[in-house]
Amino acid sequence: MATHKIALLDGDGIGPEIMAEAVKILDLVAQRNEIDFELVHGAFGASAYFSHGDSFPEETKKLCDEAAAILKGPIGLNHEESKKIPVDMQPERGALLPLRRRFNTFANFRPVYLPQSLAHFSPLKPEIIGDNGIDMIIIRELVGGLYFGKKEMGVNAEGKRYVVENLEYDEDQIANIARVAFDTAQKRKKVLHNIHKSNVLKSSVLWNEIIDEVGADYPDVKVVNILVDAAATYLCLNPGQFDVMVMENMFGDILSDQAGGILGSLGLMPSACIGPEKAYYEPSHGSAPDIAGQGIANPYSMIGSVAMMLEMSFGMEAEAKNVWHAMQEVFAQGNSTPDLSKPGAGVNMISTSAFGDLVAAELAKCPKV
Ligand code: NAD
Repeated sequence: MATHKIALLDGDGIGPEIMAEAVKILDLVAQRNEIDFELVHGAFGASAYFSHGDSFPEETKKLCDEAAAILKGPIGLNHEESKKIPVDMQPERGALLPLRRRFNTFANFRPVYLPQSLAHFSPLKPEIIGDNGIDMIIIRELVGGLYFGKKEMGVNAEGKRYVVENLEYDEDQIANIARVAFDTAQKRKKVLHNIHKSNVLKSSVLWNEIIDEVGADYPDVKVVNILVDAAATYLCLNPGQFDVMVMENMFGDILSDQAGGILGSLGLMPSACIGPEKAYYEPSHGSAPDIAGQGIANPYSMIGSVAMMLEMSFGMEAEAKNVWHAMQEVFAQGNSTPDLSKPGAGVNMISTSAFGDLVAAELAKCPKV
């Protein structure tokens, strides 16, 4: 029997609630496929800071090093609570960015998917969504750019507080993410939207040069260059024009949250963060402190991250498809968590754990692969 060790980093806020539903699905997948998933939980994020004095403790680093893949819940606290943690230990700076750096997970895949039959979840008008629903993938560079450049804070010669944050890339970093994006576009509609800000940022001038150079190896892929600010508008006005989008780290952080918005909830946003040797999988959203502990978080993002892990880390493409299908079936039967529907909308509003149970029941009906 194949054995795969998976590190589970539950995280903060709604993290443990949605992780519990992911575990239900992993257990079922293991049973259906006669695989031994060794699931080991590790402390990570603000909860780890309070329990271990470190938001990415050494024992969690060791667990991640040993694991075949990592499944991570969202981390973070609300604005006021986060002040209880020293700035450099706050979950993103103290845990998330070091995790990404440790495994060089430069390629972040964020699928943005809503079939036309679920257009009522979206705040966009049906005529904007059109007959094909919303179906695109955002490819975000994840270990460079503004989030990983040199940072400096201090007091200058005039006694004024100042800050400097650099947006840094070398040509290899850009070429690496460009190749991932072109490969993805080649497997889909052969159109790549390159999102940049070259009218202001020199980093985008180099970015675009490399996109052109790498693009020469992909003559069958059409490149459409769009300024990031215009792309934000088009996501609302004409999302159907996008299929594969590639962009710098911070642009991707912001535009992918907007993409969650046009679907109706960040709870519909799973992701995969792929490095040369290791990958980790996480919902694109944060720890949702406003709804934590209420049992109403949408676990789609976490279960979708499991599906991506099955496909991308374990080569279980068919079973991954079954997981996606099971989740869509739960929606098709008229259910949703409260983030997606308003009372009176004719939708059966269900809890986090009920959603997980229904997905498991649907998955159990799928033929074994
Ligand atoms: P958020 O993404 O946590 O929440 C934004 C909104 O989306 C909230 O209304 C929330 O209730 C809703 N939401 C998010 N996920 C949901 C789900 N699965 N089901 C239903 N509703 C959902 O953003 P925020 O409130 O700005 O940030 C909270 C914390 O998360 C902050 O500390 C932030 O730094 C952190 N954060 C972490 C990550 C990560 O772990 N990768 C990503 C983004 C933000």
